[in-house]
Amino acid sequence: EAPAPQDDCLFCRIVAKEIPATVVRETETTLAFRDINPQAPTHVLVIPKAHHRDAAALAAADPALAADVLRETQAVADDEQLESYRIVFNTGSGAGQTVFHTHAHVMGGRGLQWPPG
Ligand code: 5GP
Ligand code: ZN
Repeated sequence: EAPAPQDDCLFCRIVAKEIPATVVRETETTLAFRDINPQAPTHVLVIPKAHHRDAAALAAADPALAADVLRETQAVADDEQLESYRIVFNTGSGAGQTVFHTHAHVMGGRGLQWPPG
């Protein structure tokens, strides 16, 4: 059974269209929209519509949905014609996670350093 939307979750509210977002792709189970504070020429967030707090929780609870999210990150990279890009799941506040609804950052369109710091 899919987890219920959380009233206090920003990304659940974007899924519910209570908060506007620039949506670039949508499937039955996922949504992709532009980051409000882009850190690269392409900076898109791909989320499962269902609420899971981070990538680890998503993978454990619903691996098929995790695969949907991963597939959509590749679709965004194709749509944006990115040759080189980065997919990031910040997991935990120590790694910079600020929104606790799983999201993949798809970033590209400029050179990216490794390690990211
Ligand atoms: P995190 O730091 O949790 O990995 O990433 C959260 C991301 O969500 C940040 O890159 C931030 O800019 C983005 N963000 C925060 N609030 C909003 C919003 O209201 N709309 C959109 N489109 N992105 C947001
Ligand atoms: Zn949520």
